[in-house]
Amino acid sequence: MGGLMPTFGERSRKALDSADPKLRQLFDEVIKTVDCSVLCGFRTEAEQESAFAQGFSKVHWPDSKHNSFPSRAADVVPCPLDWKETRRFYFFAGYVKATADRLGIKIRWGGDFNSDGNLANDGFVDLPHFELLEG
Ligand SMILES: [Zn+2]
Repeated sequence: MGGLMPTFGERSRKALDSADPKLRQLFDEVIKTVDCSVLCGFRTEAEQESAFAQGFSKVHWPDSKHNSFPSRAADVVPCPLDWKETRRFYFFAGYVKATADRLGIKIRWGGDFNSDGNLANDGFVDLPHFELLEG
């Protein structure tokens, strides 16, 4: 709370550097006010299959938006990370969405894959996941 701007650590920076320039622009803006970590941008085939095996992804290589280079998706979590405190993920996603709107970047969030604003009717929920929409 000391007024210092949060910044990405080395691992987050490396992950974000493998993502599309629009995602880099978006999260470089978000990090100025909300501390967060980038868990992944681009996933290799081995990383994608591992994510699938662990239930973090519902598709095989190369069907994920994490599988193009640069990636069309990034998994980003609010800091400090606590997977059980899901309310913070929803709060964070609202901030990311508002920032994306302000920058004119069209995104889809994994907490509302069908993007209808109803957070209770999505079969697969992936709270850290943000992906670019076409156009
Ligand atoms: Zn993802």
